[in-house]
Amino acid sequence: MQHRVIVLGAGYTGAIAAGRLAKRLHREDVAITLVNAEPDFVERVRMHQLAVGRDLKPRPFSEMFAGTGVELKLAKVTGVDVDRRTVAVTDGNGAEELEYDTLVYALGSGWNAQGVPGTAEHAHEIASRPGALRLRERLGRLEAGQTVTVVGGGLTGLEAATEIAEARPDLDVALAARGDLGDWLSPKGRGHLRKVFDKLGITVHEHADVTGVEADRVTTADGKAIPAAVTVWTTGFAVHPIAKATALEVTGAGQIVVDGTMRSVSHPDVYAVGDAAYAMGPGDKPLRMSCASGTPAAWQAADAIAARLTGGKLPNVPIRYFQQCISLGRKEGLIQFVTADDRAVRGALTGQLAAVYKELICKGAAWGVAHPTLGMPTRRRRVARERATAGSAVKTLA
Ligand SMILES: Cc1cc2nc3c(=O)[nH]c(=O)nc-3n(C[C@H](O)[C@H](O)[C@H](O)COP(=O)(O)OP(=O)(O)OC[C@H]3O[C@@H](n4cnc5c(N)ncnc54)[C@H](O)[C@@H]3O)c2cc1C
Repeated sequence: MQHRVIVLGAGYTGAIAAGRLAKRLHREDVAITLVNAEPDFVERVRMHQLAVGRDLKPRPFSEMFAGTGVELKLAKVTGVDVDRRTVAVTDGNGAEELEYDTLVYALGSGWNAQGVPGTAEHAHEIASRPGALRLRERLGRLEAGQTVTVVGGGLTGLEAATEIAEARPDLDVALAARGDLGDWLSPKGRGHLRKVFDKLGITVHEHADVTGVEADRVTTADGKAIPAAVTVWTTGFAVHPIAKATALEVTGAGQIVVDGTMRSVSHPDVYAVGDAAYAMGPGDKPLRMSCASGTPAAWQAADAIAARLTGGKLPNVPIRYFQQCISLGRKEGLIQFVTADDRAVRGALTGQLAAVYKELICKGAAWGVAHPTLGMPTRRRRVARERATAGSAVKTLA
């Protein structure tokens, strides 16, 4: 009997975990199925680029996983039963149930409207490809001088505002931030950000707590109205509700609570990675929803699963941050170097060099998905036959 590993979600982290597992475990012993709703890899980190009309390189999973031993299942996950160890999916042929021995949950996240009135009706999002394409279509219909207001002064908001302002200098672009512009960055980083925003003519509304979105404006807690023919909502991400509907231990927001090996603290045969996981990082702070921490988390999960199945040594590599890479349009960027627990240090790269650096990071992330174990020796270890249940002691055969 093969050990059945199902990976849910082929975004940055699920795809990496599936590829790495395939490289780690012997094909005769393990069947790895990667379930994803869409047939191609979506570079979420480029959704602001897609929104302003740039086309992204097609990356079909059928090519990326050809010959790897990972079986692709193109279907939408509708539910998980962690007691029966089944996943409910639907595709063009109807509903189906898949059985697993080990589950890797990597369904990512979507936008977070935070219940602000009017967002669902009037705001646009760039956390997903359909959202970015809708915004692209809407921006295409805007006439010169019309206003676009980006709500959210985090990394995604900064990238969205600058990308739109650069691509459409005829529009009146604004950013509404809760605090000061880039207030978590180093003085050099903040200074550069302000310079680029000024150069691109972006109006910045600081200390703006947006509490409502209407068809032509957003309103703030202190009673201001900011014009917005188009509102782009970027105030963080929210996980899909599937995990919350299971018996898994989840946070109030629905992220699966995992240990340092990305294993569920309540169900040892379930692992979670990426945006869907709640894992403690350096400084006892939860890992930020990002590829920066999601990618090493995916390596960690795959290595831990392989180690537990084969009796190998458990990985113990602390996940740490090095930098925050921010694109500011195509010609400008900001690389803010950070401490292990993601706090800005003095050093920052700016300007065109930073734009090139960021582009290389994005390319590298997509390339890493397609080649999850480059430079690593293939060690397809045999799974211990005496393994009874996930999490039980196993005998090493390799
Ligand atoms: C515009 C933008 C810019 C960003 N820039 C950066 C950056 O510069 N650096 C950084 O570190 N992070 C960045 N991020 C964050 C980063 O993209 C996410 O943290 C990362 O994608 C999370 O990876 P993931 O694998 O958890 O989820 P995802 O990459 O979202 O993948 C989830 C996968 O699951 C699939 N899926 C979801 N629901 C279902 C379902 N029900 N059934 C089947 N399949 C399903 C999706 O189709 C997708 O393939 C950015 C995000 C955005 C939106």
